[in-house]
Amino acid sequence: MKTFTALLCLFFLSTANAYTLSSGPIQKWGDPTLGTGATISYSFMMGGEQCDTSTCSALDSFMPLGFQQEIKKAFNTWSSVANLNFIEVADDGANFNTLTTSGDIRIGGEMIDGPSGVLAHAFYPDTHWYFSAGGDLHFDTSETWSIDNLVDGISIFWVALHEIGHSLGLGHSNESNAIMGPYYNPVLTGLQADDIAGIQYLYGANISAVPVPAAFWLLSSALVGLCGLRRKTSSKN
Ligand SMILES: [Zn+2]
Repeated sequence: MKTFTALLCLFFLSTANAYTLSSGPIQKWGDPTLGTGATISYSFMMGGEQCDTSTCSALDSFMPLGFQQEIKKAFNTWSSVANLNFIEVADDGANFNTLTTSGDIRIGGEMIDGPSGVLAHAFYPDTHWYFSAGGDLHFDTSETWSIDNLVDGISIFWVALHEIGHSLGLGHSNESNAIMGPYYNPVLTGLQADDIAGIQYLYGANISAVPVPAAFWLLSSALVGLCGLRRKTSSKN
């Protein structure tokens, strides 16, 4: 049996079961007013660009065929419950965090820390100290990414869903049974009530979505612009 653990970002409070937001001033796309929707573009990086810690790779250089559909499904999953509209645009190949005409959320890969450990990381929709890093999402090129083999591989959809949550402004939830929880937990196959409450707090509900009880605590976190998801394989028996 494999068990998975992940490290909370150290700056998050852990006093209640609740979603958290990115730090400092509200970081969301579109109108900064809470509960208002946004149209957000995304693009797939070409590869070869200077990344935040190394060189960026195109996803098709290390992911199986069908990865784009898995990532688009993750975007659609968020927009199915919140007032969000995602548009794919071409990436212009600019280096990370430089002026660019690429998507708000640029998606690529880079060697982060080798197999396991950090699976991916994403930047909050920060507009305060970055040029264009806000929202960007990098998958670790060292993982065995998978569409349907979750025994030996890491779910592209699951990690994309989690990381896009960061790209949209959500931090790690203290609710373990949440996509935005601290654990890579592919048993969860879709957004949970806590995830939905968090994203609707920022962007409002999709008008066709089922209302979710709003009885969730809201926590804040210290200043940071990046959050990563980790996995550690502790045993197999
Ligand atoms: Zn995370």
